[in-house]
Amino acid sequence: MALLITVVSVVAAVAFVYQSLTPDPRSLGVIVPAGGPLPITADPDPDDPTDMDLTAPPVALAPPTGAVVQQGVVRLPKPTIDLKAQRRVGIQVGHWQTTDVPKEYGTRITAQTGAAFAGYTEVDLNMEIANRMKTLLTAQGIAVDIIPTTVPIGYLADAFIALHCDSDGVGELSGFKMARSNRRGPFEDALLSTIKDVYAKATGLDYDFAHVSRQMLGYFSFNWSRYQHATSPFTPSVIMEMGFISNDDDRDLLVEHPDVVARALTDGVLTFLDEHPRSKLFSGDLLVPQAPLRPGPQATPSATP
Ligand SMILES: [Zn+2]
Repeated sequence: MALLITVVSVVAAVAFVYQSLTPDPRSLGVIVPAGGPLPITADPDPDDPTDMDLTAPPVALAPPTGAVVQQGVVRLPKPTIDLKAQRRVGIQVGHWQTTDVPKEYGTRITAQTGAAFAGYTEVDLNMEIANRMKTLLTAQGIAVDIIPTTVPIGYLADAFIALHCDSDGVGELSGFKMARSNRRGPFEDALLSTIKDVYAKATGLDYDFAHVSRQMLGYFSFNWSRYQHATSPFTPSVIMEMGFISNDDDRDLLVEHPDVVARALTDGVLTFLDEHPRSKLFSGDLLVPQAPLRPGPQATPSATP
């Protein structure tokens, strides 16, 4: 009997010590550092094989600012940022410096060198528009980063826009397209629709909703759950296909009237910034609902009444 009591008390002591060292994740949360695995699925990548098991752990990785796993949710703490400081906009020049990318992007981005048609290359047009936007935004007191293919780790700004042009190879398609990613801050839609409205009005181009691609929706620059070199989930981020360089009318606009294109995009960004002060953009943590990583087979309803 005495021996049994001793054994029980030792077990209890061990259990107590274990609990005191390991906080209950339901109450305090468990801090996951940058790049650590999170109990949520990763955002899909356009080049994933379609039969890939996205529910296999570990999948999503914590962004550079870390995350806190709590009961039912992954909490992404709001960024530390000076609410009164100069506002900042990132403009990514699509396909610029694709040969110089971090290992985590894999090899496929290196192969994506951009569209070319009738002697014009997409990357040159993207750069032209980006530089014009920088001039216009800087004149309004905004800090601007011209960003190559490689996004700075956890890039934090008041807005981020990736510039691209499209080609269908034959000149039939015309129009512009935009996309944003999921599982980010609540202001992505506002950035997209603000720029979309201003751009359509200023350029006369149609919005080509039908050809928004998987590549756009799963754009690597926004995929914080896979890449450390991605925009912070708090940076409102959109990708813009400004028009088809393979289409005579679209190309005329992009090549002969880059001032109109850059002005429209700049006005869209400025309108968004006016309507969304930093106190609004960076006011709260982001909560991502947890999902079971390996859902078991669905229970089959019983045939008996
Ligand atoms: Zn492109």
